[in-house]
Amino acid sequence: MILLDNRIKTFLEGFFNPEIKQIQSLLFYGEENIGKRTTALTFAKGLLCQEIEKSFAGCEKCQSCLMFEKNLHPDFLLLEPLNDDTNIKIENVRQAIEFLYYKPQLSSWRLLIIDQADRLDENAQNTFLKTIEEPPPHTLIIFITSYPQKLLPTIWSRLMPIRFHRSSVLELSNFLVSNYQIDLKKAQEVSQLAHGKVGLAIKLLDSSYLRTVKNQRNSLNKLLKSDFTQQSKDIRNLYQDRNEVIATLKNWLDLLHSELQETNDTKRVKLAKELLKAFYLISESNTSSRLLLENIFLNYAH
Ligand SMILES: [Zn+2]
Repeated sequence: MILLDNRIKTFLEGFFNPEIKQIQSLLFYGEENIGKRTTALTFAKGLLCQEIEKSFAGCEKCQSCLMFEKNLHPDFLLLEPLNDDTNIKIENVRQAIEFLYYKPQLSSWRLLIIDQADRLDENAQNTFLKTIEEPPPHTLIIFITSYPQKLLPTIWSRLMPIRFHRSSVLELSNFLVSNYQIDLKKAQEVSQLAHGKVGLAIKLLDSSYLRTVKNQRNSLNKLLKSDFTQQSKDIRNLYQDRNEVIATLKNWLDLLHSELQETNDTKRVKLAKELLKAFYLISESNTSSRLLLENIFLNYAH
């Protein structure tokens, strides 16, 4: 089961009607961990399903649905970076484009999903341009990204944008109770901590991950209260591992985001803005910005 905005569901179900000429390139965008990829994959399975009466997530019984589940569907391709720090390779982009030019074998569509499409460099994006301008018949491409600003204007202007949002805490906790065999109290705690991000909430059902996130969030207030020497020491410790810095900053930003819905404390607003800048700088380049982070905390105290 997926938690899905009705507006998005209705739009996507339009593709199930073969009578209507459809847009062939979509852009799913919005924050991380709010269900873009899960929605795209579920919809892909439903669209490729061979049943005449289609349901959003497929029938789970036909040959198409079974092959999709086994990652063996001949009409479906998922393109994504091979690991966290790399771009999508240009040779994989070329293969993906070639894939689109073959006729569907099992279903009535050829479907390509590009997850983390912001990891296509300029050259790779330009390689897609012609295919997006004149897509082969029976094809659908879904670009997914949390950073749409990294797509070239020539690309995003040709995509139909679909924005994903957080769910309400109530909606999310109801969803967790009915799909993950947990009690309401636990579901509410996790939903609140995830600030309505469904993907994050599901990850938080793992108790060791839950503990890590709680610790990282507590570390922000602890750090703000400690003196400069202690702060530099803690920040230096944090900087032993780049992924740890990024994960911690994300958690701090989540925490501040929820705080700022209730207060307008100018110091906290400034802190959030500066941490957000630091987050982009650190996640987008390999420069060590330890001093930048130290400065943010030093300035907060004065
Ligand atoms: Zn099916």
